[in-house]
Amino acid sequence: MSTSLLYHAFGFRGYDYVKTDYRDGGLTFTIGQRRHTYRCQVCNSRDVHPRGHQERTFKTVPIGHKPVSVVLPIPRVHCPRCDLIRQVAVPFADPRRTYTRAFERYALELGRLMTIQDVAQHLQVSWDVIKDIQKRDLQRRFRKPRLCKLKRIAIDEIAVAKGHRYLTVVLNLDTGAVVFVGEGKGAEALDPFWRRLRASKAKVEAVATDMSAAYIGAVTRCLPDATLVFDRFHVMKLVNDKLTSLRRQLHAQATAEGKQVLKGVRWLLLKRPENLDARRGEQRRLREALRLNAPLAAAYYLKEDLSQFWEQEDEEQAQAFLLDWLARAEGSGIPIVVGLAQTLREHALGLMAYYDYPISTGPLEGTNNKIKTMKRQAYGYRDKEFFKLKILAAHETKYALLG
Ligand SMILES: [Zn+2]
Repeated sequence: MSTSLLYHAFGFRGYDYVKTDYRDGGLTFTIGQRRHTYRCQVCNSRDVHPRGHQERTFKTVPIGHKPVSVVLPIPRVHCPRCDLIRQVAVPFADPRRTYTRAFERYALELGRLMTIQDVAQHLQVSWDVIKDIQKRDLQRRFRKPRLCKLKRIAIDEIAVAKGHRYLTVVLNLDTGAVVFVGEGKGAEALDPFWRRLRASKAKVEAVATDMSAAYIGAVTRCLPDATLVFDRFHVMKLVNDKLTSLRRQLHAQATAEGKQVLKGVRWLLLKRPENLDARRGEQRRLREALRLNAPLAAAYYLKEDLSQFWEQEDEEQAQAFLLDWLARAEGSGIPIVVGLAQTLREHALGLMAYYDYPISTGPLEGTNNKIKTMKRQAYGYRDKEFFKLKILAAHETKYALLG
């Protein structure tokens, strides 16, 4: 080992190689700082007087499977200008860290290919050390996403911990980046987002959300000039939920034979017709059930029709379609369907807004899937901030650090 290898291979500049020890299956280099590089850490003055050393050990990048540590007696100096005794700066490691920046960079590189557990094992450090390295990197890059260019966003909540905990996520629909992750669901979860959005002076034009009163209230209050677009998938989910309620209601009133038929079509009602499996006779069973239950059939065909609302040529046709659909639904005489139609009529503006801004919360589904994968991974979400940072980083595959 030589001083120049120390510099070229490990990046220690301004230090002399002193010795190598082989212990515990690893290598330990001792290095020394050259006298002429001593500086005051505060004022950067060279006019300093040595006052002994404080020895510290840093982990650095391994050689193959051999862990490598560096021992440096850090000089203490007296600076007459500051009239203080301090250690000189250590340029190759962050303050209070027990590893070098090179080690950090290496751990981050590995984290793109390996789980935290694997990286920790390979580098022979604890899981927490690797997690902290990743967390600080994510904080630097993603803690405060820039909001000033936001134009079109989607807002939705995501269930974590089997529905015991919710996160509210805001997505930039133009870039696919998550720009905010709030704790909880409902309007309060978004409060920090609105504050930061105001400060950024962004001109948000359109927002896709579900039809919940909380989001409608928050968006109209905080972004009065933005167009609110009700997400088609949430609308269709609401319609499916109503269809399920209706089936349940009919089931409760049905005869034994009717019960059997209704029970068998539970999922078929919610499937898109093109997804029905002919080999399993799904079309036939559904047709049969609908034939026996006039109200269910009416509701089912209204549901299938409604999905065509988002496929109209233009705004004018869409409006005609919606008015026709609402009239038919309200005229169906089925209380659940009439109630649904009233809800949709009240929200007609936000439905029609799709023809000004054809946006949805659909792209958040991708984020949702990534979160599900992250939840399955070992670290879970015990460290809430780490979990949120990973969501903010999720769209940048470069930083998709594995659990
Ligand atoms: Zn000084």
